[in-house]
Amino acid sequence: MRPLQMVDTKSQYQKIKPQIEAAVLAVLESSQFIGGKVVNDFAINLASYNGVKHVVPCANGTDALQIAFMALDLQPGDEVITPSFTYIATVEAAALLKLKPVFVEVDPVTFCMDASSIEKAITTKTKAIVPVHLYGHAAEMEKIMAIAKKHNLFVIEDNAQAIGSKYTFSNGAVVKTGGIGHIGCTSFYPSKNLGAYGDGGAITTNDDQLAEKIKMIAAHGQSKRYYHDVVGVNSRLDAIQAAILSIKLAYLDEYNEARKKAADFYNNAFKEVAMFTLPKNASYSNHVYHQYTLVLNDQTKEGISRDGLHQYLTDKGIPSMIYYPVPCHRQKMFDSFGGSKFNLPVTDWLCERVISLPIHTELDSEQQDFIISNVLDYVHSK
Ligand SMILES: *Cc1c(COP(=O)(O)O)cnc(C)c1O
Repeated sequence: MRPLQMVDTKSQYQKIKPQIEAAVLAVLESSQFIGGKVVNDFAINLASYNGVKHVVPCANGTDALQIAFMALDLQPGDEVITPSFTYIATVEAAALLKLKPVFVEVDPVTFCMDASSIEKAITTKTKAIVPVHLYGHAAEMEKIMAIAKKHNLFVIEDNAQAIGSKYTFSNGAVVKTGGIGHIGCTSFYPSKNLGAYGDGGAITTNDDQLAEKIKMIAAHGQSKRYYHDVVGVNSRLDAIQAAILSIKLAYLDEYNEARKKAADFYNNAFKEVAMFTLPKNASYSNHVYHQYTLVLNDQTKEGISRDGLHQYLTDKGIPSMIYYPVPCHRQKMFDSFGGSKFNLPVTDWLCERVISLPIHTELDSEQQDFIISNVLDYVHSK
């Protein structure tokens, strides 16, 4: 059996090695390391894949979020509504700009922002809603967009974990995540569904004016070379990463299918386990399974716990991860924002019960059978 890993970027690379190496060598030969055709071509390819008018590549997903907030002219003290059950980057980018994160609850089944909790959190200072398509499942975008429209708010999608995911509106329209809100932000961190071999990120939008502003902010606020109109940042996707990503983009649907297949395999094996809530997708979303995350909904049985399962698997050489053990509102970082004053019982409940199993494009049935039989041994052992 091949060694078990949360993600297996090496085996995936082996399969496309000649293509990748030729593309990287071509960049080296051209010596156009920053900007240029390779980066522009990737932006065009991704825009076409994602069904958006504009893609602005940048250095990473965290920068993408920061640039999005800056492009919308959000000012210190402005409030942004976000889930607390997310990766820290979503909220950190806001806090860095002295925006105030206002945390709302998530749905315990989809793990995404609970749209019914948003309106209660809106104040006169609210400027934006930041839904996160967590683990590869789309947030309830139709409701979120309706609330945003009613209250005149911006929507920034944190699409770092869900590239390729599709959202179906009640009128039947299907739109890929990242192309629904005013701005979408994604990450090409190596373990993401579209992973580079280093850092990378992108900002998506259908708004021409916003796209210009985003481009400008990502490039030191310059409208033309050495003419700086606004305070910006330096955030670039380099040409080597863009060349790699252009190749991998052509495989993204295949990769997402492989993840889905692995998730279905797990779901089928665990369907009789009463103490697990299995990941499932709402009717409006497909799922691209950035993570396969179980909820251990019942920890009352003697000797059974999420942490116990995590340790048991570790002892058997099976990696598993807790995404995320501490919700954002309980991070020390947000003490000064009154983080712990937020009352988010579903979020707290999930942080104590979620466990993510290995899922990636190269997982085979032998590996999955081994993981599954050990998980089942644990739950039946007590
Ligand atoms: C990975 C991730 C980010 C940040 O991406 P980086 O490229 O690591 O900066 C932001 N939000 C979420 C939900 C993520 O998973």
